[in-house]
Amino acid sequence: MTPPNRELSKAKDLLLGGARFLLTSHARPDGDSLGSQLALGHALKQLGKDVRIINKDSAPALYDFLPDLSTIEIAPSVNASCDAVVVLECSSLSRTEVAGLETQTIINIDHHLGNTTYGAVNWIDESACACAELVFDLIKALGAHLTPSIATNLYVGILTDTGSFRHANVTARTFDICRQIAETGINLTDVAASIYTSGSLGHLRLSGRVIDRIQIENDGKIAILVVNDKILVETECDPDDMEGIVNLPLASRNILVAMLARETNDSLRVSLRSKKGIDVRSVALSFGGGGHLNAAGLTIESPTQNTLDEVISRVSAAISETDK
Ligand code: 5GP
Ligand code: MN
Repeated sequence: MTPPNRELSKAKDLLLGGARFLLTSHARPDGDSLGSQLALGHALKQLGKDVRIINKDSAPALYDFLPDLSTIEIAPSVNASCDAVVVLECSSLSRTEVAGLETQTIINIDHHLGNTTYGAVNWIDESACACAELVFDLIKALGAHLTPSIATNLYVGILTDTGSFRHANVTARTFDICRQIAETGINLTDVAASIYTSGSLGHLRLSGRVIDRIQIENDGKIAILVVNDKILVETECDPDDMEGIVNLPLASRNILVAMLARETNDSLRVSLRSKKGIDVRSVALSFGGGGHLNAAGLTIESPTQNTLDEVISRVSAAISETDK
């Protein structure tokens, strides 16, 4: 038996005791942040609560199929009063990029190592494969019913954050939750198809283009893919079409770290993915970013010619560290 979870209890009490809630997550949302917010939003509404979900950025088109995605409001700030704000899947309050949250009662629910515990409640469980796993527990604790809409949203969070059940932290518990999700009768094949086989032609063109120009470093262990505005124009893509491309090089046996560098005029954003115990999170952290052991990201403002080389060199050091 797992010990009673005090932070979960506190979150439950605040949610059951209040009437009006605001939900949010990190900017540039992904499957886990969207699925977690929508699932909890559904559960709270089922319990008669008034719920608003506010995000800084709209969801990538890939997630258009999520039940009630259109209920998410896109805004850079909030001034509404509510009983509590639930911040899901967000390692620091500033990563929401939503202003006006500082003065609210915050329930912070996350599975990122290094969460800055900015809430009145801080339920951080790094052993969870996705924030959606924690939301599942919360929904059960609240006594809400696992509806097909909730199940679909939770499944999307788990499926995407585990890289289709490949990353670390996939446990028996993950499959137990997925079993209960499947029992609601949702079509798991349709969900997977919406995510993995419904991309744009542009996504395919962009994948081919960047893979064709793949840069290989560190004795074949690091793959670097570069996307800039010129490539996006030539392949008729928008930044949403980059989703998932960073994972492609890991299909190759000897590649241990894949990097996707998104260059704009004034910033460099790098997504990092790794195999085995290679810690790309520490690399991201060293540039002010963050994430997980095998999946992390960072953004550098005003990069120079050498900035990307510096990231590659720190990735090489992380690989050497694992070899020790
Ligand atoms: P992605 O490469 O898909 O944008 O992000 C991979 C993982 O790293 C996700 O868990 C994401 O939340 C985290 N991540 C990406 N960028 C940042 C960042 O700038 N700061 C922090 N703290 N985490 C990040
Ligand atoms: Mn996550």
